[in-house]
Amino acid sequence: MDVGGLDNLREAGRIARRVRERALNIVREGLSIVELCNTLEGLIMDEGAKPAFPCNICIDEVAAHYTPSIEETSIIPPRSLIKIDIGVSLDGYIADTAITISLNPLLETLVEAVNTALLEAIKVVKPGVLASTIGGVIQKTLVSKGFKPIKNLTGHEISRYNLHAGLSIPNVQTSQTDRLQLGRVYAIEPFATTSDGAGQVVSSPIMTIFRLDIERVKNRKLSDEEKKLVEMLYERFDGLPYTTRWIKEFEKFREIHMKMVKTGRIYSYPVLVEERGRPVAQAEHTIIVTEKGCEILT
Ligand code: MN
Ligand code: MN
Repeated sequence: MDVGGLDNLREAGRIARRVRERALNIVREGLSIVELCNTLEGLIMDEGAKPAFPCNICIDEVAAHYTPSIEETSIIPPRSLIKIDIGVSLDGYIADTAITISLNPLLETLVEAVNTALLEAIKVVKPGVLASTIGGVIQKTLVSKGFKPIKNLTGHEISRYNLHAGLSIPNVQTSQTDRLQLGRVYAIEPFATTSDGAGQVVSSPIMTIFRLDIERVKNRKLSDEEKKLVEMLYERFDGLPYTTRWIKEFEKFREIHMKMVKTGRIYSYPVLVEERGRPVAQAEHTIIVTEKGCEILT
């Protein structure tokens, strides 16, 4: 990565950290979920950056990929476990970070466990370390505290304009032989549930986050209407994940958008929930691998 790229990446990281810290201060029972997302995404844009993906607010057993729609009226429930996942893109250089806030005193140890697992994982990062070794550290840390890692959610490499590039970083030890490399950027994100959980997530039929993968539409015949939608999505979201909440004129695209999602021309992310309905906590940082270890960007 060139120096300008690294500067952008570090600035994206600082913005993501500030927004995450702000989230920690404003989340409370009864707060409107859509308002919370709009506020956090607004803070990112106030800093001259773009959200790299819609702000994810996942409550209790919902583990990932939920963002509210524009008409959503739900609020932060009492005694809930709230995961806030934030992405910042500065000229395509992406920082990805998440925290969990517990309004239930009984789940505070679960939150502490994912936070500790993340810090322990970061300690072993250096050029050439196996992704599986990181997964092993996360697993060991969580299990030693009486919790279960979510084995089918992973961290990931990040490249420019690409949130999930190549390598994944598991939350358990695996037989995977990939190694982290010097100068590369990775998101590490332990997810855990209570010991009576399944330790894995399943897809729900709900989809609130979408992505236009230009490769999927490149060689397809598109109607004029479809072309218009594709151009708008590409122009506005740089091929990164988006929510229809961000599209003011969405009503006029609603049907064609739905059709393109159904036919797989637009990718959609199913909301992921813990298989046994147990609460899930998450912690996440974006790091860059250095000679001696790594630099935490977020
Ligand atoms: Mn994230
Ligand atoms: Mn991530």
